[in-house]
Amino acid sequence: MKKHNFSAGPSILPKDVIQKSAEGILNINGSNLSLIEISHRSKDFVEIMNSATSLALELLNLENKGYKALFLQGGASMQFLMTAYNLLENKAGYINTGAWSTKALKEAKNFGNAIEIASSKDANFNYIPKNYSIDEDLDYLHITTNNTIFGTQYHEIPETKNNLICDMSSDIFSRNIDFSKFALIYAGAQKNMGPAGTTLVIVKEDILGKVSRNIPSMLDYKIHIDKESMFNTPPVFAVYTSMLTLEWLKENGGIKSIETKNIEKANLLYNTIDSNELFTGFAEKEDRSLMNVTFNLTNQEHKQHFDKLCIDANISGVNGHRSVGGYRASIYNALDLNSVKVLINVMNELKTII
Ligand SMILES: *Cc1c(COP(=O)(O)O)cnc(C)c1O
Repeated sequence: MKKHNFSAGPSILPKDVIQKSAEGILNINGSNLSLIEISHRSKDFVEIMNSATSLALELLNLENKGYKALFLQGGASMQFLMTAYNLLENKAGYINTGAWSTKALKEAKNFGNAIEIASSKDANFNYIPKNYSIDEDLDYLHITTNNTIFGTQYHEIPETKNNLICDMSSDIFSRNIDFSKFALIYAGAQKNMGPAGTTLVIVKEDILGKVSRNIPSMLDYKIHIDKESMFNTPPVFAVYTSMLTLEWLKENGGIKSIETKNIEKANLLYNTIDSNELFTGFAEKEDRSLMNVTFNLTNQEHKQHFDKLCIDANISGVNGHRSVGGYRASIYNALDLNSVKVLINVMNELKTII
C-alpha cells in the first residue's frame, strides 16, 4: 500500500516522475538502450541536460538575466566550500540559522575571513534572526532560506547591497520569490527536485573571476559553465529525474501554483498543531517553514500511541531530527494534500484514544 511519505530527504517525488524515470532506466526515448548505459555526450543525454538547465532558469524566472544553471556533484555540502573558493577574497558574512549554515560557515573559514553576522543558536535555531546590521563591504552574504532540521524559513529575504548567496536545498521551486535578488543559489536535488547525486547551482556569471587564488578545475564554476555541466561525466540518472520533476512542475502551473498548494498544506497542519492541545510547535510562528513542520507531543507519555496510529495510517518519515526531537513532517512539493489530511486525522484521533 502507498505510504504517506513525510521524509525530510531524500524525499517524496511525484509518482509520474518515478514511473518515467524507471522507464528511462529500461529504455530511454525508445532507443532500446538504458539511460544509464549511454554516453553523456549522446544526443539523448545532451538534450536532457539542456532541458534541465533551461527549465530551472525558466521556472525561477531567471532567463536572459545573466544567470547560468549547472548540475554539479558533491551535494549541497560541496557548495559550502565551492562558494567560498570561488567568491571569498576579503570578507564574507553568514547568517547562522541552523546545522547546515553552521557547516557552510565552517567550510568558508578555510578560505579567508568568514564572519557570523547573526545567529539563532541561542534558542536552538527555532527562529530567524532579525534586526542585525550587515557590513557593506562583504564579498557576499550567505543565508539558508529554509532550515530543514529546525523547520524555520525566511519569509522576507534580507536586503543587502552585497552579493546574496543562498542554500535553497529544501525550499527551491516551492514558493514565488524574486530570485533575481540572489547572485548564487544552490540546492541539493534530493529534497524538492530529484534523487540524491546532483546539486543545482544557479549563478550570475558576472560575480565570477574576481578572486586571486587558483581554483582547481573541478571546483571552478567558470569551467563548469564553459563545459555546460559536462566537464566530467555528470550523474545522468539524477539529472534526468530532476528534469522530469521540473517538467512536472511546469505542467502543473509552475511555482505560483505549487506555492498555493504548499501554503494550504502548511496552514492545515499548523492549525492542527495550534488547536490540538496534545501538540506543540517547535519554530516561532512567524518563521515557520512551509516545507518542514516541526512539532512535539505536549506529553511524552502519548508517544507510543501516536507512533502506532501513524504506522497504522501508513505514515512514514515523521520522526524529528535528533537535534530537535519530536516530529517533523516534511511536506515538499510532491506531497499530496490528502497525505497531510491523513496526518491531521491521526493527530485528532489521538485525543479519542488516550
Ligand atoms: C540536506 C541539506 C544540505 C546537505 O545536502 P547534501 O546534498 O547532503 O550535502 C544542505 N543544506 C540544506 C538546507 C539541506 O536541507
